[in-house]
Amino acid sequence: MSQVPDVPMLDLSPQNGPLLPAIRDAFERVMAKNAFVLGEEVAAFEREIAAMLGVRHAVGASSGTDAQLLAMMAAGIGPGDEVITTPFTFFATAGCIARLGATPVFVDVDPRTYNLDVSKIAAARTPRTKAIAPVHLYGQPCDMRAMLEVARALELPILEDAAQSVLAPATLDAEGHTAMTGGVGLAGWLSFYPTKNLSAFGDAGLATTQDDALAERMRMLRNHGSRVRYHHEAVGGNFRLDGLQAAVLRVKLPHLAGWTDARRAHAALYDRFFAEAGLPSELVSTPVRLEAGHVYHQYVIRTARRDALRARLTESRIGSEVYYPVPLHLQPCFASLRRGVGSFPVAERAASEVLALPIYAELTKAQIERVVDTIVRFHRS
Ligand SMILES: *Cc1c(COP(=O)(O)O)cnc(C)c1O
Repeated sequence: MSQVPDVPMLDLSPQNGPLLPAIRDAFERVMAKNAFVLGEEVAAFEREIAAMLGVRHAVGASSGTDAQLLAMMAAGIGPGDEVITTPFTFFATAGCIARLGATPVFVDVDPRTYNLDVSKIAAARTPRTKAIAPVHLYGQPCDMRAMLEVARALELPILEDAAQSVLAPATLDAEGHTAMTGGVGLAGWLSFYPTKNLSAFGDAGLATTQDDALAERMRMLRNHGSRVRYHHEAVGGNFRLDGLQAAVLRVKLPHLAGWTDARRAHAALYDRFFAEAGLPSELVSTPVRLEAGHVYHQYVIRTARRDALRARLTESRIGSEVYYPVPLHLQPCFASLRRGVGSFPVAERAASEVLALPIYAELTKAQIERVVDTIVRFHRS
């Protein structure tokens, strides 16, 4: 019998375990000051992550979803507006647009990267279009060079969903200049949900912008539209970040670059093992990396017999996940958009073929080998 242990999709223990003493110390600091909502820890975290991301303003929020609401509210998205986005993403991207009374206008994705197909954006533009909201899916930056060109030509702001792409640099121009995802467009948002590359001990998120006035608005809207207590100039919400979450995130922040390197190394190892196995690409194709900055929030293969393969992996005590099995235009809550089956064929096909494999930083080479080996044997039997 192999001595290699089970391979969970994600195990937070080896990341959190060694940090617990430092996290407990940080919690003591927060508890000593009773600074449970916003406060010094949040302000310090905002400064530290803004510096790391190279953004002028980082506004801590209660979740990635709330950070998106904040960013979109601050950018003036509201009833009657349209926002161009992808149907192949986590629900929140389109859900927040709809919650603001605006309409998500879906554009199909690139079959190689699953990111918005930039060549299709212009055709989706109408007089009501207010913004383009790309998602850097699985941690791979979108083709921002092309997107910035299109956005400039259409005179539309870009609002970036960087929930999965913390610390992923996007290429901006032919000279190879880069900026961190979330810091490219007018505004962006990140998520620190426990499965994300940088994770809190619960829900937490961040809205980002390079624009001073927009940042001011975000801070006001985060606190029920109030700058002066009990005086409300706009209807905002309670989108505030907790001190305890900021304290955890501050302990983790210095490790993020190392964890990201580990994810990239794991992805390279998966690529190598799959290449060595030589499965035909009709059976299994490995992720296409068009952007060097990919941070592999997920390592996603494409495979025709996806559900049977997934069942085999489960039997072999190997975790896997489908991000995402139903594209957003086919979700019941968006039926009124009248985009039925066949509207976005690339996204629909991806939804039936993608499979995410374990990729967290502390995974071992033997575990990766075992995952690939199990997939290869499935296809050879
Ligand atoms: C996780 C995620 C969100 C939402 O973040 P939460 O912190 O869970 O609210 C939004 N968009 C994408 C693409 C995500 O992966």
